[in-house]
Formats: sequence, structure tokens, C-alpha cells
Amino acid sequence: MTIVAAAKTRTAEEITAAISAGIQIIGENYVQEAEGAINSLGDKARWHFIGHLQLNKVKKAVELFDLIETVDSLELAEAINRHAMTAGIIMPILIEVNTARETTKHGVLPEHLKNLAESILKLQNVRLEGLMAMGPHPESGDLRSCFAETHRLYNQLKTDFPDANIHYLSMGMSDSYQTAIEEGANLVRLGTAVFGLRPAKPAFPSL
Ligand SMILES: *Cc1c(COP(=O)(O)O)cnc(C)c1O
Repeated sequence: MTIVAAAKTRTAEEITAAISAGIQIIGENYVQEAEGAINSLGDKARWHFIGHLQLNKVKKAVELFDLIETVDSLELAEAINRHAMTAGIIMPILIEVNTARETTKHGVLPEHLKNLAESILKLQNVRLEGLMAMGPHPESGDLRSCFAETHRLYNQLKTDFPDANIHYLSMGMSDSYQTAIEEGANLVRLGTAVFGLRPAKPAFPSL
């Protein structure tokens, strides 16, 4: 069980404190925001990209990150593959799966997972290492059954592709990690549980 400290909006000082407390992986949602932190703290942690990756940010993401958790299309995987080839590296990735089946969520639908994985496994400069999923919106789905379904897909992926190096199941956040771990997560992405509540924006910033 490994914690990814989700560091969006956190300062380099807060990230440094988390690393001093034993955190080994930092998750970042935005390439731009991560660049400063990675340039100053880079070798003190491993860096996972956990946001939605736009095609025009792939080159920078490949240069900065150790693993990209949110690959959900062949187009994106191919772009990562191209830039990794240019950089002379093999980029570890996870496929984001939309087990919650919410149209507002990113991620490949479960019925398209096997095809996407099969295509990605043919790429020379990416290495598929597992799955990532977001929990459902509380009103629209059951957390536990969503995580259980993702675990089932993860096991199926290992069975379908026994030679691939599938070993990460990334699911669960601060309010859901207990359930996620019970349902098989081995990477949990914690923001507030590690860093505390994000400060609320002042209602009247000009005052
Ligand atoms: C912010 C974020 C998290 C952590 O959320 P918390 O509720 O603060 O624990 C996890 N995963 C992703 C993709 C995030 O954007």
C-alpha cells in the first residue's frame, strides 16, 4: 500500500514537509504548477501525474513525471510514446478507467479497456503498469461497488496480459481510501488527509 500525496495548490514548503514526514510519491494535477516544485524538489520524491493530460502538455509531462496515471485514449498514449522515444526513456503509465460511468468523468469505459490496453502494450516507449479510477459522485453511484468493479477489471487485465507488468491499482482519496483499500487498491491518492483542508477562497478578496 503506497500513498500518493495529491499536492494541487500546495506550496513547495508543504510538499517538502510531507516528504520529510515520509511521503515518497507526489501527485500533481497540472503540468505548469508542478514544474517549479519538480525542478526544486525533483530527486526527493517520485512524481505522478494525476490530472487530465492535454495533448499539448505531453512533452513537458514526459520530461517531468515518473508515471502518468490518467491515460484514457490511444491518441494520448501514442503522443506519450513519441515524446518518450525522443527523450530516450520508457514512460510508465496507468489507464484511467471510468468505472463510475459518469459522462463528466474522464477515463475509458470498462468495455473498451481491453482493446486500449492491447494497443498500448504494442507501444515501445510506454509501459502499462495498472489502472486508476475516480470514485463515483455520491449521488450517482455506490463507492464500494465501483471500486470492486475496478478491482475486477484489474485482475482481468492481469489475466488477459500475463506478460505485462501490471501491479498498480490507484483508487481512493481522503474521504474514500478505507473502502478503496478494502476493495484492493494499492495506491491511494490523498490530498486533505496529508496536507489538511485547502484554505477557502475569501468571499470578498478585494476587501
Ligand atoms: C485532489 C485529488 C485527489 C485527492 O483528493 P482529496 O480529497 O484531497 O484527498 C486524488 N486524486 C485526484 C485525481 C485529485 O485531483
